[in-house]
Amino acid sequence: MGEAEIFICPHCGREIWISEGLGFADCPETVFTCQNGEYPNLQERMESPAYQQTRELLNAGASPADIGENPRKNRYGQNRYICPHCHILQSRFTITLQLPDGTLFTPKYHCEHCNAPLRLYTRRSRKQTLLHCKNCNTTFDIHAENITRMIAWVD
Ligand SMILES: [Zn+2]
Ligand SMILES: [Zn+2]
Repeated sequence: MGEAEIFICPHCGREIWISEGLGFADCPETVFTCQNGEYPNLQERMESPAYQQTRELLNAGASPADIGENPRKNRYGQNRYICPHCHILQSRFTITLQLPDGTLFTPKYHCEHCNAPLRLYTRRSRKQTLLHCKNCNTTFDIHAENITRMIAWVD
């Protein structure tokens, strides 16, 4: 089960969804469906370099790890990440693979604005946290007073 925090852009009114956890289409059977060496459902959830690396590892014998009933938060499912450079909050679909030698692998994710490596975001963070609205191409601080936020649950 997943959760989304919905912020309303103060400039244009567009909803911005920041998701966490698992949505109804995020079960591993769907996500890791393989078609001729490609994983289309994974591809649409991941950045291209991370997907290419993941695809190669899967095809070389790696297997999805920690995808049981309650996967650990930072192992499988939507997670919140923040860019340490431009402070923009972004969701990413995190996966973890177990390599044939037993080690765990998680792809690196990058900021869609400045390409810096993203860090997991903890809700308690008081640091500057920005959202980028693709509709009106502006950025706003989620802690500002005039920001409307709502929570939605996704099964
Ligand atoms: Zn906007
Ligand atoms: Zn950035």
